[in-house]
Amino acid sequence: MIIIMERGATKVQIQKVIDLLKDNGFDIRLNQGKVHTVIDAIGDKTSVTPGRVSALDGVKEVKVIREPFRLASRDRKSEDTVIEFSNGVKIGGNNKPVAMVGPCSVEDDYEGLLKVALAAKEMGCEFLRGGAFKPRTSPYDFDGYGEKALKFMKRASEETGLLTVSEVMDAADLDMMCDYIDVLQIGARNVQNFKLLKAVGKCNKPVILKRGLASTIREFLLAAEHIMYNGNPNVILCERGIRSFDNAFTRNVMDIASIPVIKKYSHLPIIVDPSHGTGQRYLIEPMAKAGLIVGADGIMIEVHHDPEKALSDGKQSLPIPMFKEVMARINQLTGRLQYEKNCLSANIK
Ligand code: PEP
Ligand code: MN
Repeated sequence: MIIIMERGATKVQIQKVIDLLKDNGFDIRLNQGKVHTVIDAIGDKTSVTPGRVSALDGVKEVKVIREPFRLASRDRKSEDTVIEFSNGVKIGGNNKPVAMVGPCSVEDDYEGLLKVALAAKEMGCEFLRGGAFKPRTSPYDFDGYGEKALKFMKRASEETGLLTVSEVMDAADLDMMCDYIDVLQIGARNVQNFKLLKAVGKCNKPVILKRGLASTIREFLLAAEHIMYNGNPNVILCERGIRSFDNAFTRNVMDIASIPVIKKYSHLPIIVDPSHGTGQRYLIEPMAKAGLIVGADGIMIEVHHDPEKALSDGKQSLPIPMFKEVMARINQLTGRLQYEKNCLSANIK
């Protein structure tokens, strides 16, 4: 780290910083400028954190050179993480981007869910997504059918061969959820629920971690770090739009640039969710394509057998016939992109 001392910092204050760092094994280089003293310190930041140094009197600023995420960082692991499932499906690296589709909430209608799952299968998608525990802004909104919904997910998976994804909101549900589904999702609202991150870190299921409503990219990667630090390396990031000043036409602002940025700084796979990213059915296709063009490892799209009657997020869900048309065009694009994706990822690493 680089420590910039305040103008007029005293010798005693400077020495105190140096002593703390040296006592903890840091190599120090002192640069005394006309106005500021700058201390270059190289060593292990777990022994002295930047926060501890910046708390010392006379310290103006502490700059950290290495990114604070380690396990998630490309510095640590240069090759892409590839997550492989028992049926051979792979996410990440140069593998074909995956598609995760299904209703926002699994409803009390197995036949409806199965229609979506069969359409997903027909269109070559790999995953069925469906919420059993729904985080809702209002306590009066539908918040999911819980275990019953997970049973439907498992049944649909058995009938179609699709892998399944569902959101976990409470660590107490984890063991039960792991009996039914293949991938755990941490939703945008729980991206900094550190106890939950720790709990999924101890699970042996892959985790989709959604970007928080107001997460910076660094915070997002640090949330992934919590999961990895607790023992689970199989994290799939998901860009799902962030809150910004303009929600007149879109629910969120999709940060498309975050995808190549994350690819540059992290080896983890990242997928894109244009349903939550835009909140608009007509924007799903262009934004899914945009995400894939800049290197996303997959897409997550809400599809409902009757969106007008959906218990949540109907407006951003595709009805099945439209889904099939959209997915056919997305499949054409992913075919064409495989070659370009290789070139793009080679260029940004
Ligand atoms: C969802 O995937 O249904 C969901 C609630 O997403 P997010 O956490 O991104 O809002
Ligand atoms: Mn939803």
